[in-house]
Amino acid sequence: MAGIYIHIPFCNSKCAYCGFYSLPSLKLKERFLEALKAEIVTRKDYLQGDAVTTIYFGGGTPSLLSLKEIGELLHLINAHYPVAPNAEITLEANPDTLSLEYLEGLRQLGVNRLSIGIQSFFDNDLKYLSRRHDSHHAQQCLDWAKQAGFENISIDLIYGLPSSNTEQWNNNLDIFFAYGLPHLSAYALTLEPNAILTKQIEQGKVLPINEDDALRDYEILCRRTAENGYLHYEISNFCKSGMHSKHNASYWFGTPYIGFGPSAHSFDGASRQWNVSSVEKYCARVPEPVEGSDSERESLSTEQQYDEYVMLRLRTHWGIDLKWLKREMGESFSTYCEQHAQPLIAEGRLSQTREFLYLTDEQMLFTDGVAEELFWE
Ligand code: SF4
Repeated sequence: MAGIYIHIPFCNSKCAYCGFYSLPSLKLKERFLEALKAEIVTRKDYLQGDAVTTIYFGGGTPSLLSLKEIGELLHLINAHYPVAPNAEITLEANPDTLSLEYLEGLRQLGVNRLSIGIQSFFDNDLKYLSRRHDSHHAQQCLDWAKQAGFENISIDLIYGLPSSNTEQWNNNLDIFFAYGLPHLSAYALTLEPNAILTKQIEQGKVLPINEDDALRDYEILCRRTAENGYLHYEISNFCKSGMHSKHNASYWFGTPYIGFGPSAHSFDGASRQWNVSSVEKYCARVPEPVEGSDSERESLSTEQQYDEYVMLRLRTHWGIDLKWLKREMGESFSTYCEQHAQPLIAEGRLSQTREFLYLTDEQMLFTDGVAEELFWE
């Protein structure tokens, strides 16, 4: 089992809150696609023949690619990697790039899961975030996606917005529930150091973030998704039974994956590798890309693998499996973890059921602090 991630680093414009690496222009798209195709072919042995069960187009805005371009990439992947017949194929999309015709075309190409960046169904929020779509188009995209035959649809929503209030956040969730979608990713608005919003707030141009608003909205989110039959399976992710993102779950379960495109990471089970975070440098690979020539690699020690396991699994409802730790990493690691967990359990910051250590909804907000106390010294 393995996953493929393709990073498309272009957006129509930069959203105020965005801290991701993406270019607000399509000037380099042709050169980028050439380099991307070369990388897909050159690194065909990285997964050592493991069946590819998930393919994920992330960004940036992958839905800025034409149907022809996405079709060519999928064709190339299928020609060089053993893609399982029922593979989950996800494409991240922004509403301002979508039409019914485009969505129907994606479905025909075999894309079977959509992750749509709605962020809010209200215009005042969308304006605060400087998103390019409006509330009407947000809902229209969901209607089109269903009409095009997509059943596995996820949307992103942002909470803790200064432009919003309790009633509006509840209304956002009402609209999500009314669509009967199987998956929701909900994130608290955070200030990224390089984001436009951070400057706007410093200059007093827009309302500042209030942490209490985020805590209030998070509590509403956890309660209402549970009442509506959604499983809170990762800090920011909620799904109907069996509808979790299989691609993202592979990161938490240590499944190997290969990432194509600038800044994309790869993991072969023991070492991690990542590409340069610059489209220009990435494009310079063509015409003769050499494996590793513009990427960095680190081998993970057992202690680092333990820390990574603790961090990733604490973010999920599956939690830390002490039996797995003992079997895969040795008794010293499982004993260390269990011993360091005891004071956290006594303080109510961590929970334990049989051999599993996990965080409840309330505890999940403080995952980083708990994980740090379980890390290998
Ligand atoms: S669409 Fe997404 S990646 Fe692009 S600028 Fe907005 S938040 Fe960032």
